[in-house]
Amino acid sequence: SCGFVAIVGRPNVGKSTLMNRILGQKISITSRRPQTTRHQVMGIKTVGEAQFIYVDTPGIHLQTRDRNKAINRFMNQAASQALRDVDCVVFMVDRTRWTDEDQVVLDKLTHVEAPVILAVNKVDWLEDKTTLLPWLESLSARRDFAAILPLSAKDGINVPELEGEVAKRL
Ligand code: GDP
Ligand code: MG
Repeated sequence: SCGFVAIVGRPNVGKSTLMNRILGQKISITSRRPQTTRHQVMGIKTVGEAQFIYVDTPGIHLQTRDRNKAINRFMNQAASQALRDVDCVVFMVDRTRWTDEDQVVLDKLTHVEAPVILAVNKVDWLEDKTTLLPWLESLSARRDFAAILPLSAKDGINVPELEGEVAKRL
């Protein structure tokens, strides 16, 4: 079987880092600067009989700077296109903050019928671990997520578990 997985989220949450970790190579550029990924980056991972096609989806976020309008529009279109035929969506946020941009991305998933897995990234950075559970609970109210997973794309914490959750949905 073959599955199409889109990784979405506002800039800087760690989408490219996750994709590189899953695919085991530096296929997608990671950076502190937003919008480093201007084009869709795809990677294929074969596990036994199954093939996962991962797409790191840029541009599915709030636009603020006028001088980038044309490119922003283009990136938004590309992102919406990519979400049409996916089998599973990994929606990534970071460990402590919910921003307007997160909401914009989530709103764009409203009509996506594929299961959406919420990946709460950068938990390696969490100073106070006791804040995590209430945070996950507050996030779970925002949509009926197929699964919610705290993880660290950088360190690989819970990344195999995420891949397992994705595999269940293909
Ligand atoms: P993208 O814009 O969503 O593709 O985000 P990137 O993958 O480019 O990552 C943005 C920044 O966050 C980079 O500096 C990454 O090194 C950092 N980052 C990504 N994942 C993690 C993580 O799990 N933990 C920590 N501490 N930093 C991370
Ligand atoms: Mg990126």
